[in-house]
Amino acid sequence: ALHRAVQEQQTARRELAHRAAHDPLTGLPNRVVLVDRLEAALPDAALLLVDLDAFGEANDALGPAGADSVLVEVAHRIRGVVRHVDTVARLGRDEFAVLLPEASPERARLSAVRIMDSLRPACQTSDGRRVRLTASVGMLPPGCHATAAEALRDADLALSAARAGGRDRLVEFRPELREDRLRRARIASGLRQAMDSDELTIHYQPIVQLDTAVPVAMEALARWSPAGADAIPPSYFIPVAEQTGLVVPLGAKVLREACARGSQWHQQYGTGITVNISGRQLLEPDFADYVLAVLGETGLPSHALTLEITETVMVSTTGPDGHSMAAHLERLRSHGVKVAIDDFGTGYSSLSYLHRLPVDLLKIDREFIAVLDNRKNDKGSMFARAILRLGLSLQLETVAEGVETRRQADLLRSMGCSLAQGFLFARPADAAAAEEYLAAHREPISA
Ligand code: C2E
Ligand code: CA
Ligand code: CA
Repeated sequence: ALHRAVQEQQTARRELAHRAAHDPLTGLPNRVVLVDRLEAALPDAALLLVDLDAFGEANDALGPAGADSVLVEVAHRIRGVVRHVDTVARLGRDEFAVLLPEASPERARLSAVRIMDSLRPACQTSDGRRVRLTASVGMLPPGCHATAAEALRDADLALSAARAGGRDRLVEFRPELREDRLRRARIASGLRQAMDSDELTIHYQPIVQLDTAVPVAMEALARWSPAGADAIPPSYFIPVAEQTGLVVPLGAKVLREACARGSQWHQQYGTGITVNISGRQLLEPDFADYVLAVLGETGLPSHALTLEITETVMVSTTGPDGHSMAAHLERLRSHGVKVAIDDFGTGYSSLSYLHRLPVDLLKIDREFIAVLDNRKNDKGSMFARAILRLGLSLQLETVAEGVETRRQADLLRSMGCSLAQGFLFARPADAAAAEEYLAAHREPISA
């Protein structure tokens, strides 16, 4: 009896030790084990962090049990394409790590690619449903002379960069990623403080009729000039604002201020106002309510407001969690608000979805306008021409962005483009200067 009791105790102890070191779902080692082995294997080891893209969607679609069976399959596939000496660990719901001891950078890269390839074929759940998955991978190449914690943090920076670049990507850690994060953190904290100050302002740039150069609308463009420092361009702070969610209050502020100004201009000159909306704002459940409330408060008629949404975001409204985004746009359009696809032509999307989207206007990205007057390249005008024809056949108005030269304007007019925006007509300017511009280029509406 004593012998049996001792044996049982040993088994229980082993069982407990195993549980403390392993993930119960997949049976893979957990973070504790990974950190231990990583500590021992540095600096000659490479580390991969593998994160399934948009797993939340799969989770919602399949339910917890279905999603669990997919995670088991994923663990199995990753284990199947790495060496015996490599450790595959599960770190989070859909995040895995692979430790490659004594690996060359090429070896590590190859393993990353094999893992990504292995995940691409559809996974079957326990109840027979199928999902397609991709993964983002952050890689820390061998040669990292640091602690395991630091190695994990650096690999995580690479993973974040991979995620930010879109799905199905591999990014290798490089020291600039650390500076990049620091820079972003600084922008985010500065922006948070600027939100209630007068450092954030709006500039306005006219959208004109190409044949008459008469402005028909003003585009609101956010500006940030921190006190005592150089102005920070929106191409820097908008992406940070998107990542931190700050773009929601920021966008709300821009919308309110632009509509108030736009309402006054609309009464005086009959012009419209256009506002850039980030995908993050469209995910807010009360987005449409907010826009309608702002219209009510500022007195801007709904038909005088255009919302600009980038093509990439627009395409995502056709995806699994795009329903509510599309619903916001449909609802606002039913009130007369117009929707424009911004940066059209840069979203790598097929054109076939276009007729299904709730849009009124296409804005041709300036990339296609800049090449127009390149005399050496006849193909330069091909895309602009194709987009204009597409707009015509779908009965969408088209706006050419970034028109800088007379020749570009003439060519666009000859191709049937009706509206344009760019330095040739006016640069973005503060409200006072924009108002002067309107006064000089529009007949005031008589009361
Ligand atoms: P966008 O919506 O494509 O805005 C047009 C950009 O082109 C503006 O840059 C404008 O200054 C610039 N531009 C206009 N005409 C010309 C031209 O003839 N030549 C050249 N080279 N550039 C021209 P900006 O103001 O730096 O804004 C950059 C981007 O930041 C915008 O691109 C927009 O995506 C984003 N953004 C600006 N304000 C907001 C905002 O309030 N909310 C959101 N979500 N995004 C904003
Ligand atoms: Ca825009
Ligand atoms: Ca644009």
